[in-house]
Amino acid sequence: MKCQKCRQKAIIKISRANAKYCKPCFNEFFVSQIRRSLLKDKMVSSDDRILVAVSGGKDSLALWHVLIHSGYRTAGLHIDLGIGGYSESSSEKVEAFTAKFQQTLYSYRLKEAHEMGIVELSRELDRSPCSACGTIKRYHFNRFAIQNGFTVLATGHNLDDEAARLLGNLLRWQEEYLLKQSPVLEKNEDGFVKKIKPLYRLSEYEVAAYSFLNQLDYVVEECPMSQSAPMLVYKKALNLIEHHSPGTKHQFYLSFLENQKKKPLNGLPLELRPCSICGQPTPAAVCGYCKIISRFPGRVEHVISD
Ligand SMILES: [Zn+2]
Ligand SMILES: [Zn+2]
Repeated sequence: MKCQKCRQKAIIKISRANAKYCKPCFNEFFVSQIRRSLLKDKMVSSDDRILVAVSGGKDSLALWHVLIHSGYRTAGLHIDLGIGGYSESSSEKVEAFTAKFQQTLYSYRLKEAHEMGIVELSRELDRSPCSACGTIKRYHFNRFAIQNGFTVLATGHNLDDEAARLLGNLLRWQEEYLLKQSPVLEKNEDGFVKKIKPLYRLSEYEVAAYSFLNQLDYVVEECPMSQSAPMLVYKKALNLIEHHSPGTKHQFYLSFLENQKKKPLNGLPLELRPCSICGQPTPAAVCGYCKIISRFPGRVEHVISD
């Protein structure tokens, strides 16, 4: 098997593109896909200060790695959800990466702030851990970025994540979510920072290959709370189709984005107002985060440190 670019020995095959690459040519392909998103989709400019949401998994670390080596101004924010050994090793991986590449890292520890982790919190709320986790993470990433002068928030969502989300939204025909599903969400005067997903053209397999080939040390295990999450079922279903017909996942998501540009779905944008408790934008009187937190009064609100 030979690399299609340089004819050296190939080490990886990308079925959907019918391509084979050696390590340097694969890295070049990987980085070019991200730069294409950053530039063509106008995700960032050279003046931007980028806050990278880092979990300790392969996606966010690979993204941060490419952004650093492309010369962007970045810092990381890690949210420790207090899920026992899983969160401990996630934090360790993020800290080791930050030290190795001499970056700035901010951390928010749920247990320090609320005396309980996401498991206990979601049990008390009688809500699925993934949905409570999503609300808490979105809230802190946005708020921290705004309050600390970051102009862009970058997350490591890859093609598999976005295609699975699209499938989920379509299965329940959730127009409101379909309208908002995009790799770039512009800054909004109501108080939302610009959000970007530069890995949306790259599959989970490709991100794992990049992380492995470039010796990025990441948490391999999935979050133990997400074992029964519907997203994993959608991913499995898409992988089954992809196996039979390589390229389908790309076509599914990228064609959706193309169509969205041509004829946006009908729907009214949500009207936002400041949350009556914290002031962050929300369509309701009180935002989702404050609804969660108001159930646990008297606890420390913020623990963010670098
Ligand atoms: Zn090559
Ligand atoms: Zn609020």
